Amino acid sequence: MSRTDDDTWDITESVGATALSVARARMLEADADCPLYTDPYAQFFVEAAIEAGWRSPFLDEDPLRAKAMTAYIASRTKFFDDFFTTAGANGVDQAVILAAGLDTRAWRLPWIDGSTVYEIDQPKVLEFKDEVLAEHRATPAARYCAVAVDLRHDWPTALRQNGFDPSTPTAWSAEGLLPYLPSAAQDALFEQIDQLSAPGSRLSVEAFGDVFYSAEQLARRQERMAEARRAAAEAGGPELPDVTRLWYMEARTDVAQWLTEHGWEVSAVTAIDLMKGYQRPAPDGLEDPVPDTVLIDARKL
Ligand code: SAM
Repeated sequence: MSRTDDDTWDITESVGATALSVARARMLEADADCPLYTDPYAQFFVEAAIEAGWRSPFLDEDPLRAKAMTAYIASRTKFFDDFFTTAGANGVDQAVILAAGLDTRAWRLPWIDGSTVYEIDQPKVLEFKDEVLAEHRATPAARYCAVAVDLRHDWPTALRQNGFDPSTPTAWSAEGLLPYLPSAAQDALFEQIDQLSAPGSRLSVEAFGDVFYSAEQLARRQERMAEARRAAAEAGGPELPDVTRLWYMEARTDVAQWLTEHGWEVSAVTAIDLMKGYQRPAPDGLEDPVPDTVLIDARKL
């Protein structure tokens, strides 16, 4: 399961399966007392994947941790939903969702007239998504354009070839992505976004902090993961993948600082504060309750 420079994946494999875990968390939000959003398509993806043999690696036998992660994903989803809705309200009608996975914003958000939503991800991930949504006759709420390309390759050319217009302001998102990119590819990504962004463009990012990439936290995560794998094996359950092996644990450029230095006006909120604001705080008494992240909302001046 270790990474290589040119690795590819299907939806139930390697990094692809992480999109399913997020879809599953979004599906579970429907059971919350006061759901932060409704994603009616998440369940279809999960059902199709289970039919194809996928088993969720979520640690349901640790209910407190599962609750923390579900609240984290719910808050994160709401943050990016609000980001795109606000960008639209300010007249931005071109959106690019990087590493879209099973994100269904193009189908479920109230896009302003004339909007185009580009989604970038690996080909098999987007194929799976297309098949499931077509089977359920889902109709996008904006002009939708899937761009099947790896973000470590020349994705700007692929985006332009699909009609993207760099002269008009764009709303970008990078959610659930950065640890899956090598540090150098992350730097290149933000340089490319900056080059493709006309003034007035907006960018939302889930940026991971030093604690997330620290050897100490990685060791604690791996210990918990090993324990969960042992428990699952003893219970005769499926073999649990270790998501930590999909991440590039390398020192990172500070995204908020880099954007500020490159002419973006930046605001950022920690995940912990975001969750409190949405009345979905992480439960007390957990070590490393949620990833060490900040959610960035930036505007190009
Ligand atoms: N952003 C989506 C969301 O929050 O629902 C998906 C998040 S999922 C954790 C990670 C996604 O990143 C997967 O869909 C995966 O295929 C995509 N991804 C990771 N590295 C990528 C790369 N180098 N090129 C294209 N997609 C990538």
